[in-house]
Amino acid sequence: MKVNKHYAELEESYLFSTIAHKVADYQAAHPDKDIIRLGIGDVTLPLAKSVVKALHEASEEQGHKETFHGYIPSEQGYPFLREAIQKYYAGRGVELDTAEIFISDGAKSDLGNLLDLFDVDNTVLVPDPVYPVYVDDNVMAGRRIAYMPANADNGFLPMPNDSLKGDIVYLCSPNNPTGATYTVDQLKVWVDWAKAHKAVILFDAAYECFVSEPGLARSIFEVEGAKECAIEVCSFSKIAGFTGTRCGYTVVPQALEREGMSLNKMWLRRQTTKFNGVAYIVQRAAAAVFTEEGMKEIQENLDYYRRNAAVIGAALDKAGVWYCGGKNSPYIWLKCPGNMGSWQFFDWLLETAGVVGTPGEGFGACGEGYFRLTAFGDADRTKEAADRILAAIKTLPSGC
Ligand code: PLP
Repeated sequence: MKVNKHYAELEESYLFSTIAHKVADYQAAHPDKDIIRLGIGDVTLPLAKSVVKALHEASEEQGHKETFHGYIPSEQGYPFLREAIQKYYAGRGVELDTAEIFISDGAKSDLGNLLDLFDVDNTVLVPDPVYPVYVDDNVMAGRRIAYMPANADNGFLPMPNDSLKGDIVYLCSPNNPTGATYTVDQLKVWVDWAKAHKAVILFDAAYECFVSEPGLARSIFEVEGAKECAIEVCSFSKIAGFTGTRCGYTVVPQALEREGMSLNKMWLRRQTTKFNGVAYIVQRAAAAVFTEEGMKEIQENLDYYRRNAAVIGAALDKAGVWYCGGKNSPYIWLKCPGNMGSWQFFDWLLETAGVVGTPGEGFGACGEGYFRLTAFGDADRTKEAADRILAAIKTLPSGC
């Protein structure tokens, strides 16, 4: 018996456990200190009323012989949900066939599962800093990884050039952790590059619902030609607070072919073999997100998080701290003041302001010197944290 030795190549994920230990130690040493956590990207508002109603009704259906649903007729998902997603895309001018939409139990699973479609002998391009899952999925499989630096010079949005070589490219926009968001024009450059190099883009649109400024893309399929080179992965976690309910979807276009094979057909084959679909009640809940009432309630929740982001942004503006994100994203990515390193700023902010964030270095080497705050917290606590951050930075001798 031989194990998959690539697991030994994985870097220990120290980030969130290190943060948890540091905060626990600090709290134990300062039991009276009120600590505000703006570190983790989980949502805090409950599910919308329409979603909960749909969950109740679907659960009731499951309790009666006449309305009971067993194995899902298609592992790809119920037509009612795929049609609702089709309409959602049509609302922004993207035409999809329902055969191109696959319901999943969340974006994270599919971001890893999609790699089943690709040979191990491919080079994967990953931005740095990055959502760590892209890297670990490929380390586990033993694929070559090349990093694309994201920094202040390129607005934290790496772009391709003719010398860039790679077969599979991960793009995440709005980005976790930086909040930076590609324009449709910038994605067009990526699409042209991918088509010219026969590469495939895995586009992570988990935060698309936060995009509000014109010109920015919510889907890579807003770009002409993207269906020939891209797969899009999306989630109900951030748009509708499904982090604990679990549902997402992946769009694999029928026009996407490589080496004479249809990736849509390959993915369907993969899913029908290795996946038995998402719970009926969860799919009903997800469909409720796209009803008129559901959309209204969800927009109210998104606006709540947007206000939090604005409150944090206003405090950083007053403090004279450089940051990006926060406008089309729930993440604020700031340059650590006083030339502090990421972890140094983490410790300093915890001690000086009692606020917890995430050190940028935890997302990749290029994140050193930066820090992520999230807008997913409680509004009053976020305001309190923003006030404390501003007051703390003002005490720095050299300002910023
Ligand atoms: N993609 C990105 C960029 C994320 O930040 C996250 C979660 O934080 C996910 C995907 C995972 O989404 P899901 O909850 O649908 O698995």
